[in-house]
Amino acid sequence: MAVGKWFSDIPIEFAVIISSPSTIIKSPSKQTSSKVLHAHRLLNKLTSIEKSYTIERLNDKQIKKISHTLLKKHVEHEIDVMKFIKINPDTILTGVHCPQCGSLSMIYHWGQWRCPVCKTTSDTAHHQAVEDYFYLIKPSITNAEFRKFTHLTSIFSASRILARMNLQQGGEKKNRYYIKP
Ligand SMILES: [Zn+2]
Repeated sequence: MAVGKWFSDIPIEFAVIISSPSTIIKSPSKQTSSKVLHAHRLLNKLTSIEKSYTIERLNDKQIKKISHTLLKKHVEHEIDVMKFIKINPDTILTGVHCPQCGSLSMIYHWGQWRCPVCKTTSDTAHHQAVEDYFYLIKPSITNAEFRKFTHLTSIFSASRILARMNLQQGGEKKNRYYIKP
């Protein structure tokens, strides 16, 4: 029972599911908006796909086998995003995004990030910034790189914040760097 043989007989549907509810999806066409959706719309999407097919082509056992194979063969798609989309990393806007209004100007003060635009405070707003850094720039970050990227001035706050993030660490003292988990 080779899985590959079944694929030629069954219709393939696809969708891009965005897990973060705060991600804004702007789609150029109706066709795109039905394929790129937030996670909370996934169940409705599945129901509507199910309704659009009337012939049963696979039994439960075959479906289980396919899903098992897909999970087993899954590999992370690691690409150099900046090279791929041909953007110079120096042109990336830096700073910490406000989780509420999206402004890129949060300021770290007394252990908290504060948005000067909508006054929202957050203990963890830098998490997204570090994640963005790992994806866009490189999979490791030093204290100095973190400060430059988040506009944080204090070297001590930076090292405290980074140490609390449960990232893997490499290097000693001044050369310490933090790695994408
Ligand atoms: Zn804000």
